[in-house]
Amino acid sequence: MQPCHPAPAERARAPWDLDGDKLREECGIFGVIGARDAAATTALGLHALQHRGQEAVGITSFDGREFYAERGLGHVAQVFDSPTKFDKLPGAMASGHVRYSTTGGAGLRNVQPLFADLASGGFSIAHNGNISNAMHLRRELVNKGSIFQSTSDTEVIIHLVATSRYPTLLDRFVDALRLVEGAYSLVCMTAEGLIACRDPLGIRPLVMGRIGDAIIFASETVAIDVVGGSFIREIEAGELVQVDHAGIVSSHRPFGQQGPRPCIFEHVYFSRPDSMNGGRSIYQTRKAIGVELAREAPAVADLVIPVPDSGVPAAIGYAQESGIPFELGIIRSHYVGRTFIQPEDGARHADVKRKHNANRALVEGKRIVLIDDSIVRGTTSLKIIEMMRDAGAAEVHMRIASPPTEHSCFYGVDTPERHKLLAARMDLKAMARFIKADSLDFVSIDGLYRAVGEAKRNAACPQYCDACFTGEYPTRLTDCSERADPDQLVLPVDKVA
Ligand code: AMP
Repeated sequence: MQPCHPAPAERARAPWDLDGDKLREECGIFGVIGARDAAATTALGLHALQHRGQEAVGITSFDGREFYAERGLGHVAQVFDSPTKFDKLPGAMASGHVRYSTTGGAGLRNVQPLFADLASGGFSIAHNGNISNAMHLRRELVNKGSIFQSTSDTEVIIHLVATSRYPTLLDRFVDALRLVEGAYSLVCMTAEGLIACRDPLGIRPLVMGRIGDAIIFASETVAIDVVGGSFIREIEAGELVQVDHAGIVSSHRPFGQQGPRPCIFEHVYFSRPDSMNGGRSIYQTRKAIGVELAREAPAVADLVIPVPDSGVPAAIGYAQESGIPFELGIIRSHYVGRTFIQPEDGARHADVKRKHNANRALVEGKRIVLIDDSIVRGTTSLKIIEMMRDAGAAEVHMRIASPPTEHSCFYGVDTPERHKLLAARMDLKAMARFIKADSLDFVSIDGLYRAVGEAKRNAACPQYCDACFTGEYPTRLTDCSERADPDQLVLPVDKVA
């Protein structure tokens, strides 16, 4: 989800600094139909998806007559902190959303699921992804008289459904989605039932499961596991699945067939390691990336140390392949949030120290290979390497379980503006100097593709969306090109020597 327009006070700033209401997000969605305790099941599912969004949570339910909604800022367990909350969400159908944002202060009006009473009936929508022509569509809709309630890109879908001339709600929904570009996995509710839909390239994940007679949709399989359900299958790229109150499931392909381009970064970082994606265990894939990394970028060292928690599976793979012992040389406190979500550099630096501490007795005098999943701004790597040196490490060789992140994501993974990405600003040597590593290396793009089970990246028609590494965006980026935002699309790469 991404804001569609600047709040007035923010208009003077550069477009991609518009954190106000808020910047880019990754989110988690969940829906269930045919369950006695649909809202509580949804809360539990969202709890398992909490890593995808910690800023806000919302649940909408339907009892056959009315729609109900509860939402709040904070974690699922904070917002749904007593069973009485579920008394306000009756019915056998519910859907929910956890939202991630780079800064605090998002208003409740942006918390999903968004709901509207349309001429064709009640309609709620929960969205994971980002619509890359949302600002364009919003301008058109506002010019025609639409009045927006939020700054979320998702709301354009509601207005497009509302203004479509097709007779049924489903036809209007499809008509709306045909105008939308970018990434969307959606769980929507109408009086007729639950609808799950994935964009034609299937950029963001969405899976289907069952618990008893109830059907579940979720961003990741871990949510199905946690509610005690069983996995049925993934929603396919471009597929729309409808489930009515009698439990009848129908599948539609309103966008024709295209080659899917699911996000490869879900495998690298975003999904929980205990989820399955594309038939592959995220954990095993991360270990396989570590194996590839050890082959491509060996190091002479005494210990392999992960940056917890994101570097752990790849470090296990690296250690197994290289024969260098795996040890926990950094201990993570679990009582601080993700460092990445802090907008100010100062706050991020302080947070890294609160979050990670060196295991001095282990590290002292050792040559270490440090493994992390990715370098974004470089802040984490710099602080951790300084910490390793302060703890007496003799050498620190940094190895990264993804290719250099050189490009921003416009499809719903939170990445900063391109000029803040270390790999967009510097070459390998300069990056190593910046983070103060004795050596630095990244897994290659083909190494990453091998780890996800491909022989190599198909350059003519890549199997995944890997735009954050390659700059090859699989859809049009209308809003970016209309903004003529050179910083985003054609960065004057100032490779610092
Ligand atoms: P940085 O300190 O800016 O280089 O950030 C790198 C750290 O952020 C790595 O340890 C990653 O695990 C983590 N990270 C990478 N991508 C994301 C993301 N989209 N959201 C949150 N954290 C991320």
